[in-house]
Parts: sequence; structure tokens; C-alpha cells
Amino acid sequence: MSLYERLLPERELLAKACRVLGKLDVTKSTFGHISQRLPGEELLLIRARGPGESGIRFTAAEDIILVDFDGNKVAGRSDLDVPKEVFIHTCLFKARPELRSVLHAHPATVMLFTICNKPLLPLFGAYDPACLRLVQTGLSSFPSSILISDETRGKSLAEAIRSSKACLMRGHGITTCGASVEEATLTAINLNEIADINYRAYLLGDPQPISQEDMASFEEMKEGSQTPYWRYYCRLVGET
Ligand SMILES: [Zn+2]
Repeated sequence: MSLYERLLPERELLAKACRVLGKLDVTKSTFGHISQRLPGEELLLIRARGPGESGIRFTAAEDIILVDFDGNKVAGRSDLDVPKEVFIHTCLFKARPELRSVLHAHPATVMLFTICNKPLLPLFGAYDPACLRLVQTGLSSFPSSILISDETRGKSLAEAIRSSKACLMRGHGITTCGASVEEATLTAINLNEIADINYRAYLLGDPQPISQEDMASFEEMKEGSQTPYWRYYCRLVGET
């Protein structure tokens, strides 16, 4: 059995994460990809693009290809190509050995904030502490709307992201990352939720951040398990 065939469970998890993201409308049509690094190897699995694909919400295990750290396809269907923006993934994995998964998507509401010079504010506390934590500590930004289609651009994005969990890319979308596929995906879902609440609050009037005192009380709070959230979103969109 080839390495690619042995990686079926990892490809199935990535495909499921793509479907969750697509079905929740966190990204549109064919735009977006999630990857997973192979421990100890300069290889990653990633959702492919190209003539054989059907869009992110219909991703199957055979839509996931094996790619090396230079962005070359190593294994996968002949009608599928490496995403143009594979360098988002390879450059982040090279820069941050602790990362296992990287996600890139084009959520419309988050993108609006990158083009209107309005910050995502910490507007709520107990409503969703994990989202608040992401606004408090986890966000970075990238000022250019170009495709990250080569190593030089990938490196400058990785430098902008530094050690953060999520990056808002001007006129483009988002990149999130984490120690697992589930973590990178939940971070993208949470970022989309933060943007949605901020968007509606700006529409209503004059949104005000919660107090410093309230923020401090959440900084002391321990992070809970992400497993129930992952299970919930999977079931919500009809995944087991
Ligand atoms: Zn993109």
C-alpha cells in the first residue's frame, strides 16, 4: 500500500473539515483549502484545486492530494492540481514547527472588515468566551490583497502572522492555523462569528467593547475542550 493510500484517515478528516467549512458558508464555492502536515516529513496533505474539483462543501478524501514543502504535487488524482496559494501552508509550516494544520478561506463578512478600516472589537464576554479570547490574543493582519502564489509572498504572510492563530488578509480572506485540523477549522468558524456580530453591531449603532475589567476576568479563564464544538458543527451540517 502506498503512503498516499495509508493516509486515507487523515484525508477523510481534512475532507470533512472542508465540507463543514463549506456547508456553514464560511467560504464560498471553490475558494479555500485546509492542510495537515505529516509529522517528521516535509510533506503535507491539502485540498486540491483544478478541473476535477466540485467545490469546498463537496470535498471527498480523493480531493485531498499529497504535496511537498516546495509546493510540488507528490500524489493524487491527475485531474487535480496544487492550489496556487499552497505557499500559505508550506511557509507557515516551515516557520512554525508546532503547527499541524493551516486553513485558508474567503469569508465575506470578515473580508468586509479588512477593507473598511473598522477593527473587530471585543464586544461580548460570556456570550462566547472562546471567540473573545481570539479577539484578545489571536489576530494578526496582512495589508495586501495579492494571491500568495510564491515563496516570497508566503514568507511575508508568515512574518505578518507571527505566532497568532488567525490572520485577516486585506481584500482577500483569512488564514488560521493550529495544532490540529479541528482547531484550525473551529478558529475559522469563531472568526466568522466574531465578524458577524461586529457587523450587526455596527449596523445597529455605536458598538462598545466590553470593559477592561471584564476582559481581565476572561484572560484568567482556562480554555475548555474543543471536542464538543467540533462534534456539534459536524452534526449540524449532517456529518458524523
Ligand atoms: Zn485566497
